[in-house]
Amino acid sequence: MLVVMKAQATPEQIQAVCDHIEQLGFRAHPLPGAQRTAIGITGNQGEADRGNLESLPGVAEVIRVSKAYKLASRDVKEEDTVIRFAHSTATIGGHDLAIVAGPCSIESREQAFAIAAHVAAAGAQFFRGGAYKPRTSPYAFQGLGLEALRIMAEIRDKFGLRIVTEALDTETLEVVAEWADVVQIGARNMQNFSLLKKAGRLRQPVLIKRGMSATLEEFLMAAEYVMSEGNYEVILCERGVRTFSDHARNTLDLSIVPALQHVSHLPILIDPSHGTGRRDSVLPMARAAVASGADGVMVEVHDHPEKALSDGPQSIYPAQFATMMEELERMAPIVGRHLPRAVPAADAALAKASGQ
Ligand code: PEP
Ligand code: MN
Repeated sequence: MLVVMKAQATPEQIQAVCDHIEQLGFRAHPLPGAQRTAIGITGNQGEADRGNLESLPGVAEVIRVSKAYKLASRDVKEEDTVIRFAHSTATIGGHDLAIVAGPCSIESREQAFAIAAHVAAAGAQFFRGGAYKPRTSPYAFQGLGLEALRIMAEIRDKFGLRIVTEALDTETLEVVAEWADVVQIGARNMQNFSLLKKAGRLRQPVLIKRGMSATLEEFLMAAEYVMSEGNYEVILCERGVRTFSDHARNTLDLSIVPALQHVSHLPILIDPSHGTGRRDSVLPMARAAVASGADGVMVEVHDHPEKALSDGPQSIYPAQFATMMEELERMAPIVGRHLPRAVPAADAALAKASGQ
């Protein structure tokens, strides 16, 4: 159920409705919009009684939301969600495209710094790097763990890049949340419900990658798990699904972009690296991602991909990344977007001036 407040409803009236919902044994999720605030009602004990709610001061109407996902749906929030970061001009969602780039795994301080310098110079605003890696084989490189998180924190300070990195389980979630700007939940964990719920109690954005066989509804229900716990800053990421096609590692399902945007206000990024598994396919599919209306891309970049400890064949060279940025910048206005080529030093100066 959803309570739509009148445009002129006061903060006190909104609070009173939330209190009333909580007294009924449900959870209230006030989501302010440009025109009015809507309050989502969730709980697993049946339906709240709409009668009482409709008579409370400031309430415009009470609507039943029939979709399985509620907080993630446009019924609850019409406007696109835009995620902002303290001391940075970077955003995810909205007009500006977000570019997340970096190696699959942090392998050493030298490797991470070299790649970060390249992606920052080309104008990326987000740096990705795995610290805890979900690997198919237990004998494959599992990530440097805390050491990698420390290296990425240094990268944030030096280059002004926001850090995106994956939490593998409820144990690593806590430590990742201490160091990262965006906590990634990987494709293999998209339906790890206890992990999603715990991520819902964090105070930083959560990026959820689509499970390899997840439907649109299952994908949004993963977001709903996070949001139902009170964290509304969720980013969706399409990274390819399993099909019979065998020319690529996965089939990048770009048609999910308009389908998601139709029903959900959450930002959606495209990962053409895992989506194709092939370096030569990353740039064409990054262009296609922007053309499809996605809010940005996440790509793997490596300065020596032939020596990479994970996902070398799909990692692009820094020069290819620079080309990608130039091309996406030129394409963006055609689809009504803008690619900010960050001056990371300016963001770093901003942080410094505000005492960070
Ligand atoms: C990754 O981004 O490093 C990753 C492991 O991706 P996925 O969960 O999509 O396989
Ligand atoms: Mn990878």
